[in-house]
Amino acid sequence: MSSPSDARRRLPAVSVLLEQPEVASLRTPTNRVELADAVRSAVGQVRDGTTPFPESPDHWAAIIAAELQRIERPSLRPVVNATGVVLHTNLGRAPLATQALAAIQAAASGASNLEYELTTGTRGSRYTHAVQLLRQLTGAEDALVVNNCAAALVLALNTVADGKEAIISRGELIEIGGSFRVPDIMAKSGALLREVGTTNRTHLDDYRRAASPATGVIVKVHRSNFEQRGYVAEATSTELVPLTGELGVPLLHDFGSGLMLDLSPWGLTGEATAREALGTGHSLLVMSGDKLLGGPQAGIILGPAHLIAACRRNPLTRALRVDKLTLAALEATLALYRDPRVAREHIPVLHMLTATPGDVRARAEHCLTALVAAGHEGEIVPALSTVGGGAFPTAQIPSFAVALRAGAANLEERLRTGRTPVIGRVADNTLLLDPRSVWPPLPDTLTTPVLEALS
Ligand SMILES: *Cc1c(COP(=O)(O)O)cnc(C)c1O
Repeated sequence: MSSPSDARRRLPAVSVLLEQPEVASLRTPTNRVELADAVRSAVGQVRDGTTPFPESPDHWAAIIAAELQRIERPSLRPVVNATGVVLHTNLGRAPLATQALAAIQAAASGASNLEYELTTGTRGSRYTHAVQLLRQLTGAEDALVVNNCAAALVLALNTVADGKEAIISRGELIEIGGSFRVPDIMAKSGALLREVGTTNRTHLDDYRRAASPATGVIVKVHRSNFEQRGYVAEATSTELVPLTGELGVPLLHDFGSGLMLDLSPWGLTGEATAREALGTGHSLLVMSGDKLLGGPQAGIILGPAHLIAACRRNPLTRALRVDKLTLAALEATLALYRDPRVAREHIPVLHMLTATPGDVRARAEHCLTALVAAGHEGEIVPALSTVGGGAFPTAQIPSFAVALRAGAANLEERLRTGRTPVIGRVADNTLLLDPRSVWPPLPDTLTTPVLEALS
């Protein structure tokens, strides 16, 4: 038996380990610093006893290789979303269409006409990109793209109602999650909150009675993540538009989801599209780029040209400005909407939401077959996927999942901490893996990392 002090005496020097062929074979043209760090870290582990003394050069190399992998692993990395929640905010919301990825690659690989007018050879504006498509697809007179929907709401409010009253129903002072609370955001925008109605019922007359020369805007917020049922009443945008006309103030509609296509043929009913929500009249609509629209994180403001121009002139726009990679991806995503069939096929969010239960089941079976062959026990069970991301909050989409019962909590952790983490959901001591939310929709996208993590 060797004591820890013997082992310490036998510890090889970092420089000696680096010269061993087994360790040297881990070297690449760019990892000199990382490899030296990995060797130092391995020696440190052996010295303090967290790793037993390696008895062979191969064993040393294995420990060093594992350390190297840990050091080189980026903080932000891909995971497999098998939760069945298609738009999962914690897992990065919408995956992008291949066309959008190609547009990012093209815009990022060199220079672009981001703020350059090619027809005249003069300075241009980044806020012209994607605008033509947004107008065509929604019927809006003009559009402005900023960093995200929260930014769009702050910018629109600050532009039309700084120091003035913003009338809003008490039933719409909501929390979206991730520290987004409508009353807090409104307060920061400089608008003065003027609450009307009650939690469950607000009438057109409530807005009318609150209106005064101090009114700057009427705000309507989409209840993205919950539904009100029972003794409820609200004034719709269509009902509010004539009142805003009388008052000479805009209606600001926080629409959130960015739905561009009618998805009712696939059972997703009850939500308006952006074109429908915008309607006619003097209103501004703000929505996200990375929810149902299925593009990159962005905030889109739609509305009449003079109000959009006022938003564009607001100095806050510079602080909330959109990046060129976002613009490239957004424009490419919007282009797919010219043909709704192309959009549904190529935009990942729409593809996932409209995939048939049979298709999802086939992918679940592929995964289960591989798991059973590797000695695990499981079964295919009917499941219900959800939309997530603040849209169709109560919709349940028929789906199928791989159900693993034995040691569900342990399996969940092993999948979550694997080389490509797989995120499922645990319910009633069962780990469920729902392929509907997995992108791309190929059997191996789920099966390969699951097998790797559990082998
Ligand atoms: C999601 C959502 C937001 C926030 O959108 P981000 O793009 O995440 O900033 C704002 N309002 C509503 C109604 C939403 O659903």
